[in-house]
Amino acid sequence: MSEHETFAFQAEISQLMSLIINTFYSNKEIFLRELISNASDAIDKIRYESLTDPSKLETEKDLFIRITPDKENKIIEIRDSGIGMTKADLVNNLGTIAKSGTKGFMEALSGGADISMIGQFGVGFYSAYLVADKVQVITKHNDDEQYIWESAAGGSFTITRDTVNEPIGRGSIVRLFMKEDQMEYVEEKKIKEIVKKHSEFIGYPIQLVVTKEVEKDVEDEKVEDATEEDADKPKIEEIDEETPKKTHKVKEITKETEELNKTKPLWTRNPEDITNEEYGSFYKSLTNDWEEHLSVKHFSVEGQLEFRAILFIPKRAPFDMFEQKKKRNNIKLYVRRVFIMDDCEELIPEWLNFVKGIVDSEDLPLNISREMLQQNKILKVIRKNLVKKCIEMFQEISEDKENFAKFYEAFSKNIKLGIHEDTQNRTKLAELLRYHSTKSGEELTSLKDYVTRMPEKQKNIYYITGESRQAVENSPFLESLKSKGFEVLYMVDPIDEYSVQQLKEYDGKKLMSATKEGLELEEDEDEKKALEEQKASFEALTKQIKDILGDKVEKVVLSNRIINSPCVLVTGQYGWSANMERIMKAQALRDSSMSAYMASKKTLEINPVHSIVKALKAKVDSDKNDKTVKDLTFLLFETALLSSGFSLEDPSGFANRIHRMIKLGLSIDEEEVAPADDHDDLPPLEDASAESKMEGR
Ligand code: ADP
Ligand code: MG
Repeated sequence: MSEHETFAFQAEISQLMSLIINTFYSNKEIFLRELISNASDAIDKIRYESLTDPSKLETEKDLFIRITPDKENKIIEIRDSGIGMTKADLVNNLGTIAKSGTKGFMEALSGGADISMIGQFGVGFYSAYLVADKVQVITKHNDDEQYIWESAAGGSFTITRDTVNEPIGRGSIVRLFMKEDQMEYVEEKKIKEIVKKHSEFIGYPIQLVVTKEVEKDVEDEKVEDATEEDADKPKIEEIDEETPKKTHKVKEITKETEELNKTKPLWTRNPEDITNEEYGSFYKSLTNDWEEHLSVKHFSVEGQLEFRAILFIPKRAPFDMFEQKKKRNNIKLYVRRVFIMDDCEELIPEWLNFVKGIVDSEDLPLNISREMLQQNKILKVIRKNLVKKCIEMFQEISEDKENFAKFYEAFSKNIKLGIHEDTQNRTKLAELLRYHSTKSGEELTSLKDYVTRMPEKQKNIYYITGESRQAVENSPFLESLKSKGFEVLYMVDPIDEYSVQQLKEYDGKKLMSATKEGLELEEDEDEKKALEEQKASFEALTKQIKDILGDKVEKVVLSNRIINSPCVLVTGQYGWSANMERIMKAQALRDSSMSAYMASKKTLEINPVHSIVKALKAKVDSDKNDKTVKDLTFLLFETALLSSGFSLEDPSGFANRIHRMIKLGLSIDEEEVAPADDHDDLPPLEDASAESKMEGR
């Protein structure tokens, strides 16, 4: 008796399966690519385990993928001698645990993505249901019995101890019960064509079991025997030399295996003999991408250390590029043509996690373990070389404007992360940065081009950080810089805050934030003097403002940073900018003690030539205790918070003040409306006569 258990598919997987079954889609052939890719992954796994424990291979020594079409029964089987699955693996990997890609793929589909993208989302197995209405997975893992997983979709699958099929030693058979109208995929010719197209560069032999009809001479009396014999088995004919017997011809069905991917590993060939199509299909089989690569670099390093590598840059970023803890198989590591592993973190730094490819080392030991890799010197040298070649490749792309635009759109975050993390290559990477600026119009500008436009007087490179181009374009912080003809770069990607802090300078010029203290405006002597002279006469005002605002601001100073605005709030040179504060607040789980420490210390800079400031000064000078000054100061401070990119601490207090202003503008008498809520202790925005009304209330 065999145990038979039924499981429900996790809801999203179930949804995905009905989507695959019910969506009209003609390019169904990709199912084979996905199943072959899984077979190859499974062999990779057992091979890797066997490096440290060779006995694991004993259950099946040959490493192969075998496709067996069976027209009569409308079945295709894809068998591999890979790692197989235990019962628990079957439950977890084929139905009960959804990956992030399950939902991701469905969303992508509804956004117009193509079903052939399925492999990228880590749910390729389910593409079997494009062509089959029932699927069985017969599998044997070294640590468990042989099991059959079976599902005809419909929300559930079963797992049964296998007592009916032939024992497979180790590995899996995916058995597809083909839909009536998908019988074309059972044709040998079609299978050969699809394998050639999608799976040519798989690193293990892909065998196709082909049926052949041959004519044979058969001894007369043995005719009956021969037809009954199992066609699978090779025939050994005993030659009886004594009595030559009469023979006649008969048709015989035999089965043979043909190897479909005999090409030698692409990286071992001379780059000059490889066409771009070949690189393209190698890239696709390596990555499951449906599009070709954007750029490729194929090279070898010789000398003290020897290795070959092919590196690719995809056309787009993966949908989950910055998802933490995601296992990646970006750079496959081979040692002397033997596949070792596909997620060797030591080979390439995190910021290059979008680069795909292979590395084949002549020097590493074959039985290298993950632990050994961490301190391995050879690997460190390889890594350094890979980074260098990647940067070379980026530079080459940057020579073609259109390609570079695509590249930059997809991977600028990685370049910026590289600037943040890779001290040695920071300068080279800075050449790749592109920004919009006050002078760039619709184009992006490089730092190099920026420098060529700098007026002689300008010493530093200016930038402003913020939430979007729109949010910074009209910022008061740009007023003075613009009027002086100094270009300002718009850094509106959150990661810019981090990378610019590390970059610090370019071409000997300091990168200077327009919103922070220490801004150098290259004023001439007259300008400096004029500001200096005003300081004394504004002292009463600045002191009064500081008293009113208390510890909301660090200090209040006169400034020539602004022209049309009355005031702005600048932050300390080394503290967070307003933008950084916004980014940090958005990261909800951050340690709040850190924010208290780093949170922007704000300096209120006031513009002494602005009419509002002048009028306020007059008010303070004539009566230091003028009640309206407090309210006006708060309004000025709060509007400066907003225009400087901060958020309000007390939005309703601000709204109340604005409403009082509106009432004033509309000449609404306080008494005619519902009593104003005394949200705060501030007097209304009116002159002393209004105060008596208030008191009378
Ligand atoms: P992915 O291959 O991206 O992980 P799939 O949907 O193609 O996603 O496969 C899901 C999982 O099922 C695999 O990660 C693997 O654990 C398991 N699996 C599928 N096919 C095989 C196989 N032939 N041998 C062993 N495990 C397999
Ligand atoms: Mg897969």
